Amino acid sequence: MRITVVGAGLAGAVAARLLVDAGHQVEVFESRENVGGNCFDEWDRGVLVQRFGPHCFHTDKAEVWEFVNRFATFRDPNFCVVANTQLGVIPIPFNDVSAERVGELSPEEIRDLLFVDYSEKHWGIPWAEIPSSITGRVPKRREGRDCRYHLDRWQGIPTEGFTRMFETMLEGIPVHLGCGEDDWRGAKADHVVFTGSLDDYFRRALGTLEYRSLEFEYATEAKREHFQINECNRVNPWTRAVDHSHWLDQDVEWTVIGREYPCEWDGKNVRMYPKPFGGNPERFRRYWEAAKAEQDVTFVGRLATYKYLDMDDVVAQVMLRLGEGKYPMIDKE
Ligand code: UDP
Repeated sequence: MRITVVGAGLAGAVAARLLVDAGHQVEVFESRENVGGNCFDEWDRGVLVQRFGPHCFHTDKAEVWEFVNRFATFRDPNFCVVANTQLGVIPIPFNDVSAERVGELSPEEIRDLLFVDYSEKHWGIPWAEIPSSITGRVPKRREGRDCRYHLDRWQGIPTEGFTRMFETMLEGIPVHLGCGEDDWRGAKADHVVFTGSLDDYFRRALGTLEYRSLEFEYATEAKREHFQINECNRVNPWTRAVDHSHWLDQDVEWTVIGREYPCEWDGKNVRMYPKPFGGNPERFRRYWEAAKAEQDVTFVGRLATYKYLDMDDVVAQVMLRLGEGKYPMIDKE
């Protein structure tokens, strides 16, 4: 079959590779000038900088880990996060080390200390309106002294960066960058894999799906002890600061610190997070009904399925949708 893949982010690249491996003829159309979507990283001031926020691949799914390891050698960056709170700087998720620093706290106290301010800044709505599916991603209390942010069996980033991994995944597959809608719609294909937002696909027929976005600020500063500092307070307007030299454990004096300032997606900046509240879930449901009725189109990825998926969930979802995987817990539709 001739297959058009729309998008060269994680979902698109994995789809393209799986389809080529299965013997299909694939062409990829990407609107940006680079592959990798929001996993895009590049060298800046001698440091490997992740341009769209920290992405540490982590998974308990052997099949997914095996798949990504075909395209890169991974190293575990020992991804640890600390929270800058009114009680001081402590590891998050709140664990035994955090408790030693500030005393044992009740779940309500942990919520108030670590979650309310950060979440309200990040999502731009009052705490009470933020779905627990979002805030529940980070455990409120974790036993033990392991300060890594994720405890999955496998974690890492490609030793040459994610962008290089995507290039390897897409090797031998025609990829058109800087494309508009007309480019992919005009290509001859028996099937389309669409990884963009459904409101784009259906030309806003049912209204706009909202997203939260981030503004990134990059500064040259002295290397820090901490990999990532979350600003769980009202003092600083940014939500987190990442010292990118930690990804590859670079021994540098000066590093690049990336700070994230939450904002709305305005149609010009980058779609970062689906907003599963307000009118969006219902609007998405209606779009999804329309999507299911589309002949010869598969919709995959964080944008197309409007889900807050981790990277490994995206890979698993693509494998499942394209009939290769065995992770029905991700999404059965
Ligand atoms: N969160 C929080 N305080 C933190 C870290 C996370 O309140 O220090 C909440 C916040 O609502 C955030 C969600 O938990 O949007 C998920 O956090 P995660 O670190 O998974 O966010 P991501 O890396 O996907 O932006």
